[in-house]
Amino acid sequence: MSSEQRRVVIIGGGFGGVFTALDLANSCSVTLVSLEDHFLFTPMLYEYVSGEVEAWHIAPRYKELLNDSVRFIRGQITEVNFDTREVAIEGRDRRLIYDALVLACGSVTNYWGVEGAEEHALPFRTLAHADDLRARMIRALDRVPPDAAPQDVRDTVTFAIVGGGASGVELTTKMSDLLREAFRRRGLQGEARVMLLEMGDRIVPGMESDLRKHVTDALANAHVEVHTGARVLQVTPDGFSFEQNGKKSDVRAAGVVWTAGVRVSPLIENLAIEKDERGRVLVEDTLQVRGHEEVFAIGDIALYTKLASPNLSGTAQLANQEAGLLADNIRHFFNHRPLGTKTFHELGEALSLGTENAAVLTAGQVVEGALARQARFALYTARLPTWQHRLRVGSSWFFEGTSPRPLGL
Ligand SMILES: Cc1cc2nc3c(=O)[nH]c(=O)nc-3n(C[C@H](O)[C@H](O)[C@H](O)COP(=O)(O)OP(=O)(O)OC[C@H]3O[C@@H](n4cnc5c(N)ncnc54)[C@H](O)[C@@H]3O)c2cc1C
Repeated sequence: MSSEQRRVVIIGGGFGGVFTALDLANSCSVTLVSLEDHFLFTPMLYEYVSGEVEAWHIAPRYKELLNDSVRFIRGQITEVNFDTREVAIEGRDRRLIYDALVLACGSVTNYWGVEGAEEHALPFRTLAHADDLRARMIRALDRVPPDAAPQDVRDTVTFAIVGGGASGVELTTKMSDLLREAFRRRGLQGEARVMLLEMGDRIVPGMESDLRKHVTDALANAHVEVHTGARVLQVTPDGFSFEQNGKKSDVRAAGVVWTAGVRVSPLIENLAIEKDERGRVLVEDTLQVRGHEEVFAIGDIALYTKLASPNLSGTAQLANQEAGLLADNIRHFFNHRPLGTKTFHELGEALSLGTENAAVLTAGQVVEGALARQARFALYTARLPTWQHRLRVGSSWFFEGTSPRPLGL
């Protein structure tokens, strides 16, 4: 069988899966299976909440991205049979047969068993989650009578974000700016209460200290109420409780958003392959799954150890870089050539810090403010999949602008 006829099945159309599929498109027979009908550029999900970008910018449909060069199936893989080399898709009798399999199904929100969190907190990983959060903010604002006193307004428009990592910081600063602008437009008194709760003793652990300073300043300027050493005990339909310095507090909130951690996709949890204590698949330096030379794992679910910085683990920039190595290795595997390996490096950090502000760390220097915001848009245009999509999005941002969309009127 020639290399072009070899069947590659990729499970998951995120950063790892899509970039691998695009790279392999004309060298093998590639089938991509994923839960949604679109890719999602997660680093800009905050800009989608604020309306600075539209869905088509950051979530292009696979049909558009992959053309006819890759077969796309929307569905959920429920089972992998490593002996017969087949995968099962929910609701379909026919199984897909592979010569090489790529596990790229990413992670899901981890609620750490906190009471009520899975039922009542809002996750923040998809377009639908972002739509829900935006709708929740508008509903809270609509409930405020025009002449309400500042304290009553604040109680009605309280939002809490659990998890003080980059995601929590980016989301709180964005929400705070959006809500402030909504207050101004609606003539409401006072301001919204936006809380950021982190269980550890500091926010954004592991972040460069220069960058951390900008983050702390941005949170203060946005009037985000930061609680470190704060453990959320329970989430209810109308609020949450947390413990800090041995004291328990109950807070009424219009929304509690959960950004406090991830765990590997349930599919991986159910596979009988070697994993670490966090459930990540143990892979060789070639990205091959231990004990299965024709199975590869990539992105959030894979424990790849050749990293120049531990901060790379669980990031889009790692999954994206791994995809190039993986596609080469699959070609080598089919052609019976030795497989390669690589050490991956950080490509810099770019954080959104509100609707007018951002911070970009590049070559050891931090740039901030409106210039950094523009730089972040430019940087991310270059990281979108396919040059055709980059061109369309880049022109749209350049000619039509990237102003936020107000929260109702
Ligand atoms: C809001 C947010 C912001 C982020 N910002 C950044 C950032 O600024 N920089 C950065 O480097 N990283 C960021 N990340 C992390 C980054 O998104 C992930 O590390 C990256 O997406 C991992 O890529 P992946 O291919 O492993 O998984 P994903 O991109 O999550 O893709 C997994 C895919 O698998 C599909 N799937 C899952 N289970 C199945 C199944 N059983 N069958 C079929 N398909 C399945 C899913 O639908 C999904 O399409 C962010 C994450 C979030 C949620």
